[in-house]
Amino acid sequence: MNAYVQKVYDGLKARNAHESEFLQAAYEILSSISPVFDKHPEYERAGLLDRFVEPERTVLFRVPWVDDKGQVQVNRGYRVQFNSAIGPYKGGLRLHPSVNLSVIKFLGFEQILKNSLTGLPIGGGKGGSDFDPKGKSDNEVMRFCQSFMTELYRHIGKDVDVPAGDIGVGAREIGYLYGQYKRITGLYEGVLTGKGLTYGGSLARKEATGFGLCYFLNAMLKRNGKSVEGKRVVISGSGNVAIYACQKVTEMGGKVVAMSDSNGYIVDENGINLDVVKQIKEVERGRIREYAARVPGSVYCEGCRQIWTVKCDIALPCATQNELDLEGAKALVANGVIAVAEGANMPSTLDATGYLQENNVLFGPAKAANAGGVATSALEMSQNSQRLSWTFEEVDAKLKGIMENIFASVDAASTEYGSEGNYVVGANIAGFLKVADAMMAQGAV
Ligand code: NDP
Repeated sequence: MNAYVQKVYDGLKARNAHESEFLQAAYEILSSISPVFDKHPEYERAGLLDRFVEPERTVLFRVPWVDDKGQVQVNRGYRVQFNSAIGPYKGGLRLHPSVNLSVIKFLGFEQILKNSLTGLPIGGGKGGSDFDPKGKSDNEVMRFCQSFMTELYRHIGKDVDVPAGDIGVGAREIGYLYGQYKRITGLYEGVLTGKGLTYGGSLARKEATGFGLCYFLNAMLKRNGKSVEGKRVVISGSGNVAIYACQKVTEMGGKVVAMSDSNGYIVDENGINLDVVKQIKEVERGRIREYAARVPGSVYCEGCRQIWTVKCDIALPCATQNELDLEGAKALVANGVIAVAEGANMPSTLDATGYLQENNVLFGPAKAANAGGVATSALEMSQNSQRLSWTFEEVDAKLKGIMENIFASVDAASTEYGSEGNYVVGANIAGFLKVADAMMAQGAV
């Protein structure tokens, strides 16, 4: 590692010793962008990396709300506004009991480079709460969202910071959050993305991350003389990203044979029946195990981590961070996997990524492969500013073009910096160069 980069990483480790997820993401990014600092010694004098690793602003707040029994509950809310060099902060809100400052910082840090890769003018941010929507009534979720927005509204705005959904935040939560923002500020503006179609949402936003993942996968396979056609595919998760990845992979001629949730996974050798998954997950908010009871010939296995032992050609981790570890990577390689593309954020541990790459598995890192969601959110912002709605086909065509451009720039950067075919290095460098250039131009801020 370049001496300056190493010094910054050591300092970061000393200051944030307990933030394991943030340090994991930072190590991956800093080690891959290290060659940029060999070429640009002027970055050190400008303290560029010292500034880049520190969020511009971190907001941490109390979220009190009243449950259905009349009992007051308190959660912790976060918004990390990491970097606004190339545009207003943009990044999702996550509601999950595992949320803490380290998780939000790792997501926000990755988001800077992801947003840069889209080629659109959006900076990086992320937020959320340790609130668990699972098992809560609609009214409880509404009261939580209203309380959360009662603090958040003062830190966001259509040209300031534009949050979106993430784990635990779908159309229902975005609706409650938007309603409260509008009520407090009196403004009808595109302050959130992922909105419903009747109040400013974009067609194809719901599908965008999963579809975009498949467009990226397809470009990566094509570049290496392969295709999705006829391949066996395993997808972890059964939420927003997983469902629409499954739909697009199937349209492209692949066969999805397994999906999961945090309790376990299903295997269906006939190919997953996505209508059944959508009914269970999107309509009933149920558990994936119910699939096996409804679809003859499928089986349910308890425990989600073993999903990587299901034989496949392509694996798409679409659930959560660190869900694919070294053991999972070894099982995939032993079964002859040819490609892994990350739908979730940082789903692979560092040693799993290394193992897959050493074994010549094509590896599409999250910040490039799952950028379709935020790219389409930026398209939603454009439509809101213009007071226009584009058709599904228009948005989908733009998304496809963006994902193909992302792959091309990642591929080119990996070659330019001497790591041809290493798309982790390519994504980090391609994303970083634009942000670095903007930060240098704007002075020491
Ligand atoms: P959802 O809440 O819609 O779905 C999450 C899925 O992952 C569910 O099936 C959930 O199962 C499962 N899951 C959550 N935690 C765990 C865990 N600890 N172990 C195993 N499975 C788990 O979220 P999304 O689909 O929106 O997000 C999935 C991933 O994609 C996240 O990493 C997110 O950051 C990333 N992402 C999402 C984007 C978007 O547009 N939505 C954009 C870019 C990235 P269960 O129901 O049991 O909790």
